[in-house]
Amino acid sequence: MITAARGLRIAVGVGLGLALVLFLQLRGGQVQPVTAHYRVQIESPEEGIVHVRLDLEGHEASRLFLGFSANAVAKSAPVSKFRVRRAVDAQGRELAISRDRGRWVIERSKGAITVEYETHLLGQRDSDYAREVLSRLDAEGGRLLGSDIFLFPVGRSVTDLKVTFELPPGWALFHPFQTADFEAAPPTVRSLYNSAIAVGPYRSTRRQIEGIDVVLAVQGRFAFGDDDLTEVISEVVSQQIRRFGMPKRSRYVFVVNEHPDQKDPDLLHYFGLHFDGSMVVLIDPRTDRRRLRREPASLCAHEFFHNWLGELVRQKGYEMNWFVEGVTTWYAYQSLIATRMLDRGSFAQEVRKRYRRIAPRLDSNERISVASAGQQVLQDPSTTQMLYSGGLFVAIALDEAIRRSSGGQESLEDLLAMLFEEARRDADGVFTRDALEAALGKLTGQDWRTWLEAYAYGEDPLDFPDFVTGAR
Ligand SMILES: [Zn+2]
Repeated sequence: MITAARGLRIAVGVGLGLALVLFLQLRGGQVQPVTAHYRVQIESPEEGIVHVRLDLEGHEASRLFLGFSANAVAKSAPVSKFRVRRAVDAQGRELAISRDRGRWVIERSKGAITVEYETHLLGQRDSDYAREVLSRLDAEGGRLLGSDIFLFPVGRSVTDLKVTFELPPGWALFHPFQTADFEAAPPTVRSLYNSAIAVGPYRSTRRQIEGIDVVLAVQGRFAFGDDDLTEVISEVVSQQIRRFGMPKRSRYVFVVNEHPDQKDPDLLHYFGLHFDGSMVVLIDPRTDRRRLRREPASLCAHEFFHNWLGELVRQKGYEMNWFVEGVTTWYAYQSLIATRMLDRGSFAQEVRKRYRRIAPRLDSNERISVASAGQQVLQDPSTTQMLYSGGLFVAIALDEAIRRSSGGQESLEDLLAMLFEEARRDADGVFTRDALEAALGKLTGQDWRTWLEAYAYGEDPLDFPDFVTGAR
C-alpha cells in the first residue's frame, strides 16, 4: 500500500455551494398542488440503469410537463440520460408523450397519472469533473444525485412528496430526508433533486452533535479508519454550530467515497459537494490518519459551512459565488484552527502555496476578477482555482480591511454572524452585492463600494498581508 508521504502534490476540488441550478424556468399559469410518489428501482446496478415509476395525483391541466434539474456541469449531464417509457391515466389508458426542448410533454393528463422512466447513469463520464460530480453505480452500490434520477412536474407545486426505494438484497439507503429504511420524504421539489443519496452495502455511523443528527455513510478502503473520519467531522460540525448557531436541518448525511483518480502516485485528490441535507466527500484512499486532519478535514469543514453560507444565506444564480466560495474556503481554515487541527503557521504556509500557484495568472494578461471566476462554475480548472484560491485571498484581505476600519473591533467572522442573523429573520431574503455592501456598512460605519469594485469585481492587485506573499 502506498501511503501519503510529505511533499505530495494535492488536488483539492472544493464543492459547489449551490451545485445545482434549476434548468427549466417554472411555467406560470394556474398552479394546482399535486402529490408525487416515486418508486426508485435498481434491478441490475452493473448496467447503471435506474427505473423510476412516478405516481402523480391532483393534476388538473390538460398537459403535464416533466423537467429535470441540470447539474452545474450541464454539458456532462445531458438530457438523454432520461428515457420516458410510458404514461397512463387512472383508467390505464396510454397517454401520448412528446419532447419539447428539455422537457417531456404528456397529453390529456388530468387526474391521476403514472409515468415510467429510466435514467442511465453511465456513459456520461467525459471529463474529470463529471466523474467527480455525477452519480455512480455498480454492483457494489453507489451514490445517486437527485438531479440524475428525478423528473418532476414543471410549474406545479408539489405538496406531498414520497420516494420509495427498491434495492438489491443487502443494500441500505442513506437519504437526507429519510423516513423509514427504504423511504424518504423530501419537503420540496428542490430538496428532491438537490440531494445526494447513498445506496449499497455502506458502513455507517450516526452521531448526535450539538442537537443534530449526523450520519456518515462510508464506502471504500482508506488508510485511515472510519472512526478517525467520524472524529474529524464531529469536531468540525460541533465547532461550527457552537460558533454560528443551528443550521437549517436536524439531520445531515455525509456520503464518503474513494476519489476516482488514483493513478498518479504523487497526487492526492480530494473533492466535495454540498447539497441541502447531504454532502459528498471524495477522499484519496492513500490518505492516512494524520493527513485526514488536513485537506479532507478542510473539505468537510468547507461543505458543512455551506449550511450557513450558501443555504441560510442564499444567493440567486451565481452572482455572489465569489463570496460564498471564497469565504467558505477561508472559514474552513478558521474552523480547523479553532479545533486545533491546524496552527496559524501551517495556515500561512498553505495560503502561500496557493498564492504561488495562482500568482502567474495574477500578473499575466489572463487576469480575471474573482467575481467573474465565480460565474463560471467548474468550467475549467484554472478559473476554478481562481474562484477558490482567489476567493480565499479576497476573504483574507477583506478580514484585514474590516479589522483596520473598525480599529480591531470587528472581523469577517463578525460580518458572517451578522449576515446569518439577518437571514434567520428574513427567510426569503436573497444575498446580493447590495446586501453585502449594506452589511459591511452597518458593521464598520464605512462605505465599501469602492473596495469591492476594485478587488472582487475588478482586477486590482490585492493589498496582501505579508503572510500571504511570504514577504518579511
Ligand atoms: Zn463550496
